[in-house]
Amino acid sequence: MTYTIAVMEGDGIGPEIVPEAVRVARAALAAAEAPGVEFVPVPLGMAAFTRLGHTLPPGTLERLAETDGFVLGPIGHATYPDDERAVNPHPIIRRHFDLYANHRPARSFSRVPSLHQDVDVLVLRENNEGFQPDRNMMRGSGEFQPNEHNAFSVRVISRRQSERIAHRAFEAARARRGRVTAIHKRSVFTLTDGLFMDTVEEVARAYPDVRLDDHQVDTAALHLTMRPQDYDVVLCTNMYGDILSDLTAGLVGGLGLAPGLSAGDHWAMAQATHGSAPDIAGRGVADPYAMIASTRMLLEWLGARHEDAALTRAAHIMEAATVETVERGLDVTPDLGGEASTSRMGSAVAARCGG
Ligand code: ATP
Repeated sequence: MTYTIAVMEGDGIGPEIVPEAVRVARAALAAAEAPGVEFVPVPLGMAAFTRLGHTLPPGTLERLAETDGFVLGPIGHATYPDDERAVNPHPIIRRHFDLYANHRPARSFSRVPSLHQDVDVLVLRENNEGFQPDRNMMRGSGEFQPNEHNAFSVRVISRRQSERIAHRAFEAARARRGRVTAIHKRSVFTLTDGLFMDTVEEVARAYPDVRLDDHQVDTAALHLTMRPQDYDVVLCTNMYGDILSDLTAGLVGGLGLAPGLSAGDHWAMAQATHGSAPDIAGRGVADPYAMIASTRMLLEWLGARHEDAALTRAAHIMEAATVETVERGLDVTPDLGGEASTSRMGSAVAARCGG
């Protein structure tokens, strides 16, 4: 079996961290004797706008559809020029490829200063509806302003998306510590969060081996901050998940340690939780951990989807090499307490993969 993975470097620190993620993935694939994976560059973001006149050049979605998965660097759309060809590409990709499940794990490392130790939480966030105004309407925006004194947001919660994300959460819990905590504010959003929770409880019946409990979102913010070790899989609608996954990243040492995978049934996209970090771009100090770990999650997803043991092995090799590098604390970037550059950390992880 051969696979093609599209590589889009994105903006800011993207061209620094994405090549390191690909370098580590190549080393792990070689070590796992999983030879048939090709990484293909695809232009996207500000560099594509400068060179080709579009942040999402025409034909990109068709090109991506011919691949098996994507690695996407951070996108700094807030600084894009006011031009209709300078669109924010990643919500378009997420919707086009139906990448409805956003996996955002957070784990602590004993050597990295953090608010908590022994944390291993997976925030699983619905990705394609909810309060995000660019994701919940067929036409137009989910935010509108009828006059200068009032503005409105619309949140869509559907049974279908709730059902799909719930299945992913229970499956993920089965491979972890067997526990799902569903997040809601049902006492206030009786219809929307009510529909979400009713659906989650229905889906739970198919997974009697997984324990389901639930927290109001405000309670979850408190408990996650104080006792994150009590959580395994945290199942959320879109915006609650967006907020709580930044919180869990903060608990274990910051955004450089926060990977992500947006997955659907046919494609998945590795994308770190952090943004393009323009304040440190070009200085060679960005932490490549989150991008490497996101790419590892993509290999794991591909391995499971295609029942390809070599890919799964490569993902495990990648994970072990990354964890060991961070735990040893020698070749790590300044945010992790070291002095290494982005590329020195990337090559240290790649070397640890063998291959
Ligand atoms: P954007 O507009 O693209 O979201 P931002 O600066 O508002 O950019 P982030 O990119 O998420 O948001 O960065 C927030 C802070 O975290 C910044 O100080 C940034 O330098 C830091 N940061 C983010 N990613 C990393 C990383 N991989 N390594 C080190 N520091 C990082």
